[in-house]
Amino acid sequence: MSQKPKPGTLCVQAGWTPKNGEPRVLPIYQSTTFKYDSTEQMARLFDLEESGYFYTRLQNPTNDAVASKIAQLEGGVAAMLTASGQAANFYAVFNLCEAGDHFISASTIYGGTFNLFGVTMKKMGIDCTFIDPDWTDEEIEKAFRPNTKCVFGETISNPGGHVFDIERFARLAHGHGVPLIVDNTFATPIHCRPFEWGADIVTHSTTKYMDGHATAVGGCIVDSGNFDWMAHADRFPGLCQPDESYHGLTYAKAFGKGAYITKATAQLMRDLGSIQSPENAFLLNLGLETLHLRMQRHCENAQRVAEFLQADPRVAWVNYAGLPGDKYYELGQKYLPQGGCGVIAFGLKGTRQDTIRFMDSLKMIAIVTHVADARTCVLHPASHTHRQLSDEQLVEAGVRPDLIRLSVGIEDIDDILADLSQALGTLA
Ligand SMILES: *Cc1c(COP(=O)(O)O)cnc(C)c1O
Repeated sequence: MSQKPKPGTLCVQAGWTPKNGEPRVLPIYQSTTFKYDSTEQMARLFDLEESGYFYTRLQNPTNDAVASKIAQLEGGVAAMLTASGQAANFYAVFNLCEAGDHFISASTIYGGTFNLFGVTMKKMGIDCTFIDPDWTDEEIEKAFRPNTKCVFGETISNPGGHVFDIERFARLAHGHGVPLIVDNTFATPIHCRPFEWGADIVTHSTTKYMDGHATAVGGCIVDSGNFDWMAHADRFPGLCQPDESYHGLTYAKAFGKGAYITKATAQLMRDLGSIQSPENAFLLNLGLETLHLRMQRHCENAQRVAEFLQADPRVAWVNYAGLPGDKYYELGQKYLPQGGCGVIAFGLKGTRQDTIRFMDSLKMIAIVTHVADARTCVLHPASHTHRQLSDEQLVEAGVRPDLIRLSVGIEDIDDILADLSQALGTLA
């Protein structure tokens, strides 16, 4: 192809290019090990002097093909698949931070990530300061410390639907010599490519829209290759000083733009082992082949649902960046001009009992702990995903106690609206 393929083409074609006589469809390399003829050759692989497969915990051809597709979709140089989105976000930060280090995260993030950063990583001696992304630059600047190693946020926050001002946070992070990590799960590279706005590293829970059918838990980390680690060598010794567990190899020198993902693979995946199974990677790839079509339909349906809810007198409020007048409408127009995602947050007038009655009255729309798959579903974060957070933390995470998270699927819009309408009808 003479021109660079567009995202819709990458979804279908990228990552797997069979040679003459090879399978047209990406095969599942269901093998933990790979065979070599000489001791010497295998030794070179272990020393990272040659690239090749030897053990699936480190690399597998099925996983690599899918990681390559996601890297191309995001416009990055390299990617790795992980067993879950949780593993992706943990590795993304832990690849830069060690005990005694600090990082900054937007408070408006997924509940599981909030807990990982605020509780579990704290036990490892890594401190996270949560900031309200609506704060002024001056207020945010105060959160940086000499030992700060990165800044983190979600393109569209789960579940609140806040849109992250990526360009602004990239400027703030770079001003302090640290990279910006963006969790792009909800927008997907079909609707936002954070690297184009200055982000350095992107993460995904591929469990959501990328898989799209609720079949496989998975995650991914993509590196833009843009952050100059050696220019901040003192701050990132893990990348810029010799790794004794690899005979004194220095990642940033030996691998240049591939340093970050190589370190995450060779060191973190080797030692922590949260690999995605090749079979899940295969399912993820099937999902990716239609991502561009599904995202379009999710957004068309969600826009209609958001407008319908906003017009209903029984609905107290609706958060959806596609609604004119929404707090994030302008940021949405900037970062998500073709639409954001299918997830809407809203609240009903009345009591918590009314919220529960509404949810229990839905017929086609199911109550599930999931978002962002083909089937419309609904969840009450305060009683489900965010249950472990205190009321104070709920507010900090942008989750109002009455918030209903509605993940609009790709069914016929008339049937989605009819179900919502009959459930609203059960309220006084
Ligand atoms: C679901 C989710 C995660 C966690 O992903 P898992 O695949 O469930 O581990 C992280 N970030 C966001 C934005 C999510 O929606």
